[in-house]
Amino acid sequence: MTDQPTLTLNDGRQIPQLGFGTWQIEQDDAADAVKTALEAGYWLVDTAAIYKNEEGVGEGIGNWSDIFLTTKIWNESQGFDRTKKAFANSLKRLGREHVDLLLIHWPCPQKNEFVDTWKAMIELRDEGTAKSIGVSNFREDDLKRLVDETGVVPAVNQIELHPTFQQRGMRLVHNDMGIVTQSWSPLGQGATMDNDAIQSIAEDTGQDPAAIIIRWHIQHGFSVIPRSTNPDHIRSNFSALSFELTDDQMAMIDELDDADGRIGPEPGNFEG
Ligand code: NDP
Repeated sequence: MTDQPTLTLNDGRQIPQLGFGTWQIEQDDAADAVKTALEAGYWLVDTAAIYKNEEGVGEGIGNWSDIFLTTKIWNESQGFDRTKKAFANSLKRLGREHVDLLLIHWPCPQKNEFVDTWKAMIELRDEGTAKSIGVSNFREDDLKRLVDETGVVPAVNQIELHPTFQQRGMRLVHNDMGIVTQSWSPLGQGATMDNDAIQSIAEDTGQDPAAIIIRWHIQHGFSVIPRSTNPDHIRSNFSALSFELTDDQMAMIDELDDADGRIGPEPGNFEG
């Protein structure tokens, strides 16, 4: 195990706080990007069936031992039997016998299949092929329904979270329910780095703006999965583990929250 900050999941396992996101990294580029990330020190790699890069991600991981691998069940694969089949196909593409974390990618409430999907995932966890199970883009009511109907609380909810969309309400729900918050699009897909407050903290600390934002996520106790295909960015983002923001600097970023700052789909409507 590497010497990195981790969070304890509600199933007793540890998740690294800093991970590497792979959305929009093409199959042909994924192996190199993942290899660069692992060599830079990242331990968690986040992919999904819908990213269509699982083979490349698996190739990049190769025989690397310090790895925490996440994949996700895509919307059209929801349902008990379809979930099991989709996960078996993901494992095949990844070239692995298990993943560390398996997530339901979106709730798709109109489909009304996420409870059956979750029941399949509980069995996958019990048989050890998905070491931990969680969800992504779930709202408070979706989370409560899963728990009411199965008694199993997701270990993680991976949600859109960045300085201009801080999800304070969902963070409170997660804290109450014992769910780890994992931030997707943690850099606002690149846009947040131009913000004046971020730029000024970057100048004061001598760190890159992206590293400042990643550090903000870490100091708030989230798991965070920035994505890059630029080897210099991959490495400099990892430096977020080697400095600290002051309380004042954290407060300056806290002030950037914007209720209208969502850049991705609204989870209640998205069917994919
Ligand atoms: P991010 O917020 O991580 O931003 C990625 C962008 O930031 C890229 O354009 C990248 O460009 C740029 N960037 C990264 N580091 C730097 C740097 N140091 N300096 C300048 N630019 C930088 O976006 P994502 O939307 O990819 O989110 C991260 C991950 O979250 C995804 O890859 C995926 O794994 C997950 N995700 C999950 C979703 C879900 O529904 N569960 C939805 C969306 C994302 P460059 O490559 O040039 O560095």
